[in-house]
Amino acid sequence: MKKIIIHIPELVTCAGTGPKHGKDMADAGIIKDGAVVVVDGKFAFVGTTDELKRVYEELDEEEVIDASGCAVIPGLVDSHTHFIFGGYRADEFSWRLKGDSYMSIMERGGGIASTMNATRGASEQELLETGKERLDRMLSYGITTVEGKSGYGMDYETELRMLRVMKKLNQEHPVDIVSTFLGPHAIPPEYAGRDREFIDFNLEEVMPKVKEEGLAEFADIFTEKGVFGIEDSRYYLQGAKKLGFRLKVHADEIVDLGGAGMAVEEGCQSADHLLMASDESIAKLAKGSTVATLLPATAFSLGAPYAKGREMIDSGCAVAIASDYNPGSCHTCSIPLIIAISCIYMHMTIEEVLNALTINGAAAVNRQDTVGSIEVGKKADLVILDKPSIHFLPYCTAMNIVKSVMKDGKFVF
Ligand SMILES: [Zn+2]
Repeated sequence: MKKIIIHIPELVTCAGTGPKHGKDMADAGIIKDGAVVVVDGKFAFVGTTDELKRVYEELDEEEVIDASGCAVIPGLVDSHTHFIFGGYRADEFSWRLKGDSYMSIMERGGGIASTMNATRGASEQELLETGKERLDRMLSYGITTVEGKSGYGMDYETELRMLRVMKKLNQEHPVDIVSTFLGPHAIPPEYAGRDREFIDFNLEEVMPKVKEEGLAEFADIFTEKGVFGIEDSRYYLQGAKKLGFRLKVHADEIVDLGGAGMAVEEGCQSADHLLMASDESIAKLAKGSTVATLLPATAFSLGAPYAKGREMIDSGCAVAIASDYNPGSCHTCSIPLIIAISCIYMHMTIEEVLNALTINGAAAVNRQDTVGSIEVGKKADLVILDKPSIHFLPYCTAMNIVKSVMKDGKFVF
């Protein structure tokens, strides 16, 4: 089971120990006239075509693919999504276009509450079918690893059902899924005014079962004004850590509560959103090991200002970029759109954006040792573009230039 790809005009490896911080993000590890050899689903050789010919004196023509004219990048890691849900909220999108804010729709009982009801009412089969459709679409953009969160049930059965669906999809679908428990995504109506009791319900009743069935590696919480404050968030994160979860947090999206700084102090793998993160929080992220995950398509969909991607990188942060694909604030996993926004509005270079979508995304889901770069020994996940250089990625603005996708050494798109 060997495959050889030669004459890759730009082989973008994104090689290096992840996550890459600050200036290191400028280097995408590009090899000109590159070549890779894939054996049994893993990279066995990465270098130039000349080096390859010296190592492998005779090439079996049936195994060789000539990639002239086509740049190759690592399989992308979308490290923050909510892709399992019941129901769509297209109507709300139009309300927002007429001026309603995300928070005002939420206060009127719309928003997440409507997805909660639809997801509670959705069967495992329905969630599996829509989940598969969404994974197929991700694959078409070159996403080969995706993080998915629970959090639309906020009750025992539905949270477990969402996570079981992801476990099944992970076995059945080529895209790798990293699962995150997000019970405290909002406060469900049955716990109104009893935030701490709801957190205890998650920690004491739901999460031990999640661990027992091996359904999620990460625990996440929506730290935001009007949802969970800093004190409740710390309490939850510390409890989750004791249960053996790695930690993530939705932080400083709408209001600067200091969630990003808290994420560093609590040892979170990533702090996500960060639109309103203060300079003080950015300085903490830069010094710590927490990945700063930016979700520019959400800001775009909400018409909100973008996170300070440029400043974060200049300060030394490890920045990852993800889609935040979800039924409400950001119903897209369009990588071409995300690349365009990141380059044009967050002032990141395409090299930085690619590191953010690969090795740093992998680090945000603790997969930096197996995916996120084209290096010998890692999973053979790669994307062949139909253009010869990565500079076409922002230039072909919001257009998909993915030609084919290899996952674990097999062409799956
Ligand atoms: Zn999210």
